[in-house]
Amino acid sequence: MSRFLHPKYAALEAYTPGEQPRDRRYVKLNTNESPYPPSPEVTAALSQTDVEELRLYSDPEGKALKEKLAWYYGCRAENVFLSNGSDEILNFAFMAFGAAGAVFPKPTYSFYPVFAQLHGVDYREIPLKADFSLDVERLCGTGRFTVLANPNAPTGLAVGLDSIRKILDSNPEQVVLVDEAYVDFGAESAAELIGQYPNLLVVMTYSKSRSMAGARLGFALGDPALIADLERLKYSTNPYNVNRLTLKLGAAAVDSALYFVENAKRIIATRERTAGALREMGFTFPASQANFLFLSRKNLPGEVLYQKLKARGVLVRHFSDPSLADYNRVSIGTDEEMGIFLRETRAILEEEGLL
Ligand SMILES: *Cc1c(COP(=O)(O)O)cnc(C)c1O
Repeated sequence: MSRFLHPKYAALEAYTPGEQPRDRRYVKLNTNESPYPPSPEVTAALSQTDVEELRLYSDPEGKALKEKLAWYYGCRAENVFLSNGSDEILNFAFMAFGAAGAVFPKPTYSFYPVFAQLHGVDYREIPLKADFSLDVERLCGTGRFTVLANPNAPTGLAVGLDSIRKILDSNPEQVVLVDEAYVDFGAESAAELIGQYPNLLVVMTYSKSRSMAGARLGFALGDPALIADLERLKYSTNPYNVNRLTLKLGAAAVDSALYFVENAKRIIATRERTAGALREMGFTFPASQANFLFLSRKNLPGEVLYQKLKARGVLVRHFSDPSLADYNRVSIGTDEEMGIFLRETRAILEEEGLL
């Protein structure tokens, strides 16, 4: 830290992203990226792009892409906000809606407390129940900006729209943000509720099911007044937050929506096959509705499995939080990648005398 940094950031603990190693080739199951490439339509849109266009700024309104997404989700362009990855929306939302404090479950996406600290938002964490299910009652009527990943990370468990409605109904004076980064892998989307709830903001990303993590594209759906609040902060930060290429590729991905739906189905099938094999090896995990499994096994510390898999060329995510020490979060890759993961895991269990 330099002596020039504003003192208010001195104690800020930054978010730690998953490793993106370059030392060797790994079977990379640590950041929930899609194992499948972007759609052929996205590839075509990129190859038809004239580099000359990069001379020009992107459309700050992102109108063409907003209209496509509005068509896909059955709303209007004024219900859509575009961002440089959905993390940017989370940042703006904590900035915009945290005046009365925030509330979110624990454990959840570890970026939420970072944004709260960054913007000086007082936050309360509501522990998940012992089986990792959400304590819906305790998230009701808090009078705070409510942030909910559904499905949750890193557990993979989702709640139904009945629970989301309960939280929304109990908190009419506060925004309820539903982070649907993993919704395409089996959960119910709250997008259909935006017309009924002026306090609902649904956040989605191209990074997981749409195979475009590197393009950095996220979007939010909500009441036009909420979207206008986010636009106000965007135009006060970076009007051109989404670059030209990404706007174009994002639109091409909506044109090929069936492709990502099919990929999500393949990933769900691979997840269920992987889950079966892991159960036979004595692992336990919540019933994931996301593209990862949050697993643990008796007599096998999470850190040991993580390190041994890494040495064998398989990268999974282990968290530094001591309450998560027993666990690893394993992204669902292709069948072939999961075959390697299972083979190496079995070998480690044998090495440890556990099989
Ligand atoms: C991956 C993820 C995001 C956002 O990712 P972006 O790449 O910034 O769109 C947001 N929330 C959760 C819970 C995630 O897992």
